Amino acid sequence: MLSLYFHIPFCEHKCLYCDFYSVENMSSMETFVASLEREIELRGREAGGRQEVGTIFFGGGTPSLLTRAHFDRLFTRIHEHFRVAADAEVTCESNPGTVELSKLTEFRAAGFNRVSFGVQSFFDDDLRFLTRIHTAEEAERAAESAYRAGFANVNLDLIFALPGQTPERWRENLRRAAALRPAHISAYALIVEENTPLAVMVKNKLVAPLPDEEDAAMYEITIETLAGAGYRQYEVSNFARPGYECRHNMAYWNHADYLSFGPSAHSFRKDSQVTGRRWWNVRSVQSYIDALARDEFPVSGGEEVTREKFFDEEVFLGLRSTGVDLGRLERLYGAGIVTGKEGLLQELERSGLLRRQKSVIALTAKGYAVCDEIARRLIG
Ligand code: SF4
Repeated sequence: MLSLYFHIPFCEHKCLYCDFYSVENMSSMETFVASLEREIELRGREAGGRQEVGTIFFGGGTPSLLTRAHFDRLFTRIHEHFRVAADAEVTCESNPGTVELSKLTEFRAAGFNRVSFGVQSFFDDDLRFLTRIHTAEEAERAAESAYRAGFANVNLDLIFALPGQTPERWRENLRRAAALRPAHISAYALIVEENTPLAVMVKNKLVAPLPDEEDAAMYEITIETLAGAGYRQYEVSNFARPGYECRHNMAYWNHADYLSFGPSAHSFRKDSQVTGRRWWNVRSVQSYIDALARDEFPVSGGEEVTREKFFDEEVFLGLRSTGVDLGRLERLYGAGIVTGKEGLLQELERSGLLRRQKSVIALTAKGYAVCDEIARRLIG
């Protein structure tokens, strides 16, 4: 199965913590959509309809700034050039400040069956701090409107470990998210990314990041509260009601092939079961438009995913999500490659960080909190 990702690089306002590629100037939106159509045609011809498409994801940026007419054009191109499975998961990321019932109804009619809202917090002062354009009330209304528009599969994104955030306020955020009955909740710790206004504020000591212990305590609260509300954790930051795990994200974590479109988008193709290649597009709307006007792929770089790198990624991505099948790895990479670490595996099991079911190892809730460290020890 193939997955398709579309990066829509426009935002009404750049949030202070965000390092995704997006611009506030939307004057090139029409030309951009035409370029995106062209990129779909070029990649579609190259792919030759060999693989069926199982998931489609519009992310950004703010895809919900596009109109029904834009999506109709894009879906027409997608269906002309790719074989999309009848039950494909088709997601649109949406900013709660840019959608209302009529727009969500149009998105549903255009072909989306999943909507993901960047809610981040149900406290207006948090949202103001994050420089989000929406309010808590708009976020709640957006989720309710999505149900009324016919979306059964709704995700809410939340951010914890905000400067000065208390455990009680974070619990209240989780409670209000669960009360909206979404099928899926993603909860990420706030990361201070380089070259963002937030990084400058931290450097100038205008805000202090939450200490690591408080961040870790909030992560534990997340896992406990969402488990109590009926959400199963299936990745470090992702929680779903049974059957609503995000298939698009699972494709990334399972090393499935994905083609990505739009500026800054990354693609991946396997060459064999244990090697592949990754490439990425230019990080500029204008360069993207210019390349496609010349009928060239707007690619700015790439890398081989060697057997060694592929192995490291398999372990890392598997541990972050639903587990690693050691039997399969040994068949692909040779006996002893991970089971040679039997002592370490037993120690992690005894500490309650890891569990085993036949040949599959998976992290426990406690293990997810130290996932990177465990992966390093298993790979190293
Ligand atoms: S709306 Fe999303 S993509 Fe746009 S700046 Fe804010 S966080 Fe980044």
